Amino acid sequence: MMTTIVVQEFRNTPVQTVCPFCQATIITAIEYNVGCLTWLLAVVIVIVGCPLGCCLVPFFMDGCKDVVHTCPNCHQQISRWGRL
Ligand SMILES: [Zn+2]
Repeated sequence: MMTTIVVQEFRNTPVQTVCPFCQATIITAIEYNVGCLTWLLAVVIVIVGCPLGCCLVPFFMDGCKDVVHTCPNCHQQISRWGRL
């Protein structure tokens, strides 16, 4: 059997890959975690002087968060995609 090595790009969509932990061919499960950009945006909002509470907005926006790829089979973290 030929092994094709495909360079996977872990971004904000699930990708098919071989799990390095359990060697199963899986499609990664993604979840959004608070990352650098989330904090950065919160700080920027505070500096700009928006009303108190606005700085929490990035924490509720998935587009501002890091994307963590996990294996649905063994639940190990395979990759993390940061926005910065
Ligand atoms: Zn696995």
